[in-house]
Parts: sequence; structure tokens; C-alpha cells
Amino acid sequence: MSTEYTIPSEIKSAIDGKCPRCRKGNMFRAPLLSFKSKKMYEQCPHCDLKFEKEPGYFYVAMYVSYAFIVAQLVASCVGTYVLTGNLESPWLYLSVAVAVAIILAPFNYRYSRIVLMYWLTPQFKFQEKYFLRKKEA
Ligand SMILES: [Zn+2]
Repeated sequence: MSTEYTIPSEIKSAIDGKCPRCRKGNMFRAPLLSFKSKKMYEQCPHCDLKFEKEPGYFYVAMYVSYAFIVAQLVASCVGTYVLTGNLESPWLYLSVAVAVAIILAPFNYRYSRIVLMYWLTPQFKFQEKYFLRKKEA
């Protein structure tokens, strides 16, 4: 089957923070590495998908975020041990853990929601008709 347009892959759209249904509209108002607003759009600017599909939907993202932070803290503490060999001071590990948690908070906030919408919500599957739809002005 040949098509004259290219649909971006699921992984690429997820990394770019595109809407899971049309893969064209942005989910977030500003890019990840920006000091501007971290807010999400309420609806997809391209296909009008309502991102918060029911009240409290994004609470589920906290569990995804929890899995992220546990993995990051374990990795950073093991990394600290490998680099320093320190078994004496708990303060080194505590400061590394706090720094990692603060530095990666925007990443976790964004990608926990993206993982939730892309892979944990069957209703938000990609639909080609929304990708092809022209946004009426
Ligand atoms: Zn969309």
C-alpha cells in the first residue's frame, strides 16, 4: 500500500508530545525544555480530542510517575555508589536523590501523562481520519 503522506511512528509522536489520536496536535503548550507554562491543552488543537476524558483521569498518571521516580532513584543511587564507592554517608545519597527528583520532575510530569494516554488508555488509539483531517479555521 502506498500513500503520499507519512504517518509519524507511535514512539516518535509520544516523545514529541503529540496527541495520541491524530499525532498532529500538541498536548502541551510549551516544549519540555522551556521555562514557560507546563500546562496541557484541554483539547487537541488539531482533532479536538478531550485529553482529560473523565474527571480524575490524570490521577492515574501519578502511578506511572511513581514507577518513573522509583526507577530513577534506584539508578541514581546505584550510579552514585559505582562512581564514589561511598558506604559511609547517607547524606550523599540523599542529596543525589533529591537533586534527581527535582531535576527530572518536569520530565516525569510530562511523560507519565504521555505513557498513560498512549499505552494505558485503549480509547485513545491513533485514527488515520483525524491525522488526515484539515483543521477548519
Ligand atoms: Zn489530536
